[in-house]
Amino acid sequence: MKAGGRGEVWTLAEIREGRLHPVSYELLAWGRGVADALGVPLASVVPGDNPPDAASLFAHGADKVYLAEDPGLKHFLVDAYAGVLADMTEEYEPQVFIASATTQGRSVMSVLYARLGCGLTADCTDLSVRDGLLLQTRPAIGGNVMADIMTPERRPQMCTVRPKSKRPLTPDPSRKGELVRYTPKKSSLASALTFLGFDPELRVGLPIQDAEVIVAGGKGMKEAKNFALLEELARLLGGSVGASRAAVDLGWAPHSSQVGLSGKSVTPRLYIAWGISGAVQHLAGMGGAETVVAVNIDPNAPIFGVSDFGVVGSALEVLPRLIDDLKKNKRHIPAGRLAGR
Ligand SMILES: Cc1cc2nc3c(=O)[nH]c(=O)nc-3n(C[C@H](O)[C@H](O)[C@H](O)COP(=O)(O)OP(=O)(O)OC[C@H]3O[C@@H](n4cnc5c(N)ncnc54)[C@H](O)[C@@H]3O)c2cc1C
Repeated sequence: MKAGGRGEVWTLAEIREGRLHPVSYELLAWGRGVADALGVPLASVVPGDNPPDAASLFAHGADKVYLAEDPGLKHFLVDAYAGVLADMTEEYEPQVFIASATTQGRSVMSVLYARLGCGLTADCTDLSVRDGLLLQTRPAIGGNVMADIMTPERRPQMCTVRPKSKRPLTPDPSRKGELVRYTPKKSSLASALTFLGFDPELRVGLPIQDAEVIVAGGKGMKEAKNFALLEELARLLGGSVGASRAAVDLGWAPHSSQVGLSGKSVTPRLYIAWGISGAVQHLAGMGGAETVVAVNIDPNAPIFGVSDFGVVGSALEVLPRLIDDLKKNKRHIPAGRLAGR
């Protein structure tokens, strides 16, 4: 154990294609509040091969940055990452370790907590401190209650938080911090996995969590091929395509487009729900939408209860007509126009 790190609050930075992913800064905003309440330093841990400069992490609130550098960490191999993070956690003994509920964060933290034998609260939407312990708040029972979870006995207290659940702090380029270079043990880098390649997802528009306009489809779209209509509308509106879990489970849309409790939380200016009933688990992910439009054949569908505008009718009739109308009138809204409104 190195006393220098004992009791710190740690956040896990993520690297994508050689650059720090924005969730790394969101986590520092969460971590800053927790570290200040506990009166301890805040550190960001960056595993990777040739990780990027730490200055931006200091600017966004880190007091310390641990760079764990090795060619074996070039690609995200969950067992190698977890092995290195387990060694670091045992050596420096942080009291709190926060990661993002991204695919990387969820994967590595679930292996790490099992190796360390401590607790993990997944998918938190709020973090605070009570009686010197991390209070981890997350939706439970289908999103109907908010559960407060504490881990009094094991260290570190570990959790993942939803991406986009907090804005990064305003960067202060004059902030400086301590840089610690950590050399991973070769034995901990051993992996049963082989990196084959990376295929970027082919999709219309931005990732849904960043989109200003979301055109989302549910089981009422009837068939996978009808999602092509949603893509066309999304292109015309400068938006992205979302989906209900039912549509994702049917293979009509990728999981990355799922909105809801077990999908993504989104905050667009405009959310158009086509053939989505409005189950509570779906609504849990779209509560941040500014304006909601719903199209459904059932006038009693719960989605109408949260909509600003509703159309009772078949998506398969209304959607082609809307697309035709937008094309005829050339009312194409370039991406970014809504963002600048
Ligand atoms: C633990 C848990 C987590 C979950 N997480 C999520 C989640 O993250 N996201 C999520 O979405 N769900 C989630 N669910 C599932 C959720 O409960 C619903 O089953 C799901 O949202 C239903 O999807 P849907 O609205 O597409 O389908 P349905 O509920 O089957 O609704 C289809 C709708 O389409 C309408 N319709 C039918 N034909 C047409 C037509 N031609 N034109 C227009 N409308 C039409 C129908 O009237 C109906 O309202 C979760 C469930 C559980 C238990």
